[in-house]
Amino acid sequence: MFLKAPLKFDRISSRFTRQRFHPVQKVWKAHLGTDFAAPKGTPIMATADGVVQEARFKVFNGNFVKIKHNATYTTQYLHMSRIGKGMRPGARVSQGQVIGYVGATGLASGPHVCYRFWKNGVQVDALKQNVTINKALDRKYLAEFAHIIQPLQSRLEGMAMGE
Ligand SMILES: [Zn+2]
Repeated sequence: MFLKAPLKFDRISSRFTRQRFHPVQKVWKAHLGTDFAAPKGTPIMATADGVVQEARFKVFNGNFVKIKHNATYTTQYLHMSRIGKGMRPGARVSQGQVIGYVGATGLASGPHVCYRFWKNGVQVDALKQNVTINKALDRKYLAEFAHIIQPLQSRLEGMAMGE
């Protein structure tokens, strides 16, 4: 079970798509992740329990952490300004644990986290996975939840592809 997003974000700046015009490289290419824009330094959380597979710097990814959750699911978080304390291959992480901080390292035009999601070794759209609710909500919070989620939901639904 996964958190819906790995951080408290301002907006989704780019969605998962097979075709988009890359803002930095200026070419059409697939974007196999979801970009959440947020101020530099915003904590990034593991969306589910797992084991760190990689935590390092790569030219395009910048500072990133990749987490294996089980035999089926793996997630990755790119462009961190800083990788979180204790993140190294083999380290256990729990859902909601801070694994790094938003930045623009690697190939990024501004501070955001590029969130990538693998299912059985294939990159899929994290927002379309049916596994994003982590816990049943206590009934007493239902009305408040519906109230908070409503504007966000219509905003998400109204968003055009290929931003
Ligand atoms: Zn991205």
